[in-house]
Amino acid sequence: MKILLLGAQGQVGWELQRALAPLGQLLALDRRSADLEAPQALAERVLHEQPSIIVNAAAYTAVDKAEADQDRARTVNVESVALLATVARQLDAWLVHYSTDYVFDGRKSAAYVETDATGPLSVYGQTKLDGEQAIRGSGCQHLILRTSWVYAARGGNFAKTMLRLAAERDELKVVADQVGAPTSAELLADVTALMLQRLTTDSALAAKASGIYHLVASGETSWFAYAQFVIDEAIRLGWPLRVTSERIQPINAAQYPVPAQRPANSRLDNQKLQRTFGLHLPDWQVHVKRMLIELTP
Ligand code: NDP
Repeated sequence: MKILLLGAQGQVGWELQRALAPLGQLLALDRRSADLEAPQALAERVLHEQPSIIVNAAAYTAVDKAEADQDRARTVNVESVALLATVARQLDAWLVHYSTDYVFDGRKSAAYVETDATGPLSVYGQTKLDGEQAIRGSGCQHLILRTSWVYAARGGNFAKTMLRLAAERDELKVVADQVGAPTSAELLADVTALMLQRLTTDSALAAKASGIYHLVASGETSWFAYAQFVIDEAIRLGWPLRVTSERIQPINAAQYPVPAQRPANSRLDNQKLQRTFGLHLPDWQVHVKRMLIELTP
């Protein structure tokens, strides 16, 4: 079985290189060898490789920058994705693609299920939604895996920013009125591999499994409580931080203006995935602790 991975150097792509390797012959491509800003060349390359599974971990992920860079975000997150889906359909290959909580407007009070109405608040969210719709419209077999608040030991993310700032400053102000579930790239990659393993060995499941799934860690937190957790754990592990969790002040999103609006409720209900694939998604704290141990000098 040949698996083609795009975005191999990103947070999720890097972990996928590890997790997908035992499933078959893995061809892992990064931006230099497969550029999503050149959709036609990308499609030709993928067609030429004839994979039976395409995993797309590449995306335009600079949420704030996308507000002023719409064309590029659209080429990467929509045009290239649409062509990948067309190629997947031609090859009868599975397309695995990652999407985001930012396809929702965050006004629902409960966690979002896969069938809830979307309503992106940002250019990034809109391009990710349009990418989803292009895949669904193509008729290819797909797993669209919506996730949230991704972090990894390798790459830039909120937790690592908090650790850096807590070493430099005397106090931090963190948004407390946005909730979601921090989800590790490691968990995303492992669950992706387990889902693919099931699909390639269980034809009854494969016949009905194509669709959207919410793939997030269980539980929920706010950015503020997440920052407190990271700082407390890091101090417990011996990090010499100037800011303790008592020195973190909760603020509202309105007090921290950024170009792209984020949903207040980013909670995604992960029951469909757990039920369909017989998997267990652990609480968000489990993998955050693992990352902090990995990062501890
Ligand atoms: P990263 O930003 O860590 O990785 C994205 C990767 O895409 C990078 O390796 C980047 O390459 C690559 N890429 C960007 N543009 C191109 C291009 N034109 N051609 C080829 N490769 C390109 O993101 P994550 O790993 O965190 O995200 C993985 C997926 O999860 C994405 O679909 C994202 O939308 C989704 N997601 C992410 C969330 C998050 O909090 N990060 C939250 C919800 C969903 P380079 O390193 O060269 O720039």
